[in-house]
Amino acid sequence: MVRRGERASEFELIARYFAPLASKAPLAYGLTDDAAVLRATAGHDLVLKTDTIVGGVHFLPGDPPQSVARKLLRVNLSDLAAKGAKPRVYLLNCSLPRDVEEGWIKAFAEGLAADQGEFGIVLVGGDTTATTGPTTLSATVIGDVPRGTMMRRKGARSGDGVWVSGNIGDAALGLRLLKGDDLGLNKSLAAQCIERYRLPQPRLALGSKLRGLAYACLDISDGVLADLGHMCDVSKVGAEISAEGIPLSAAAHRALAAGKVDISDLLTAGDDYELIFAVAAKDELKLSRVARSAGVKITKIGRIIRTRGIVVRGAHGEPMSFDRRGYQHF
Ligand code: ADP
Ligand code: MG
Repeated sequence: MVRRGERASEFELIARYFAPLASKAPLAYGLTDDAAVLRATAGHDLVLKTDTIVGGVHFLPGDPPQSVARKLLRVNLSDLAAKGAKPRVYLLNCSLPRDVEEGWIKAFAEGLAADQGEFGIVLVGGDTTATTGPTTLSATVIGDVPRGTMMRRKGARSGDGVWVSGNIGDAALGLRLLKGDDLGLNKSLAAQCIERYRLPQPRLALGSKLRGLAYACLDISDGVLADLGHMCDVSKVGAEISAEGIPLSAAAHRALAAGKVDISDLLTAGDDYELIFAVAAKDELKLSRVARSAGVKITKIGRIIRTRGIVVRGAHGEPMSFDRRGYQHF
């Protein structure tokens, strides 16, 4: 029992806020054992991914705990989407400042509950520690795919089209707005960008339908140029994309027109969590059918070429130069 005015212990916090999130996973044993069991589905491979978010780096101290929780899950789920996997369970590691308010943990757990419902995933374990540093949250998601079908970054071939889902750059604008920049946007456009920063949309439906269709796929977390670069490096090819062809929201168009950002800002900023993938020209009809049935906009932004490196062409076909490709931690 917690006495009035006294902090709940680690075990009380787990029982109170995390165990209810595991109630639909009988083999997580109510988070009362050392470990959980996961039964692999026959004929399937498990797909594993972990991602960490750090206060002050990936989210801002004033962000609502619900949206921090959802972003944590979604950045992980976005990787499963890019691999064409169906989410199953996740583990959660929380390193929290010793003086964290219990209300923060409660709201954080509410955010997890909301997205568990939305994406059909359940908590099966984790770890809870105090830290003298910033809040550090890590989730490990486990999904599955029919055996041998996980999409890779590797596999893009010269002549394939380069496609992206959704719009590019809004999350980066959202982050700049949260940091106090004026981007010349009205309230509603600004709110849309902030929402995109706080709440990425993992493209799970599209990803699972791209299996067997896309030759290479990854999610855009570091920026279009950086992540397309990753695909091309492992595929040993290059790519040519058109700056004019990048799908942008009304907000991004407005910020560009107002001279507050340029296209390089949008192509090199992270946090889009859209999919970027390579599809053979012969499969484009099938691809548009698949995207329509997933309810996601997709746009062809360029093509894979034999020559290594990424070339971005401007309105008149001129190659543009960039001083960086994307976000780097070190
Ligand atoms: P151990 O002492 O064996 O490392 P813990 O006491 O840390 O185990 O955890 C007890 C149980 O609670 C385990 O099943 C663990 O997976 C779970 N758990 C601990 N922290 C979390 C968390 N933040 N989210 C989900 N499960 C957790
Ligand atoms: Mg143990």
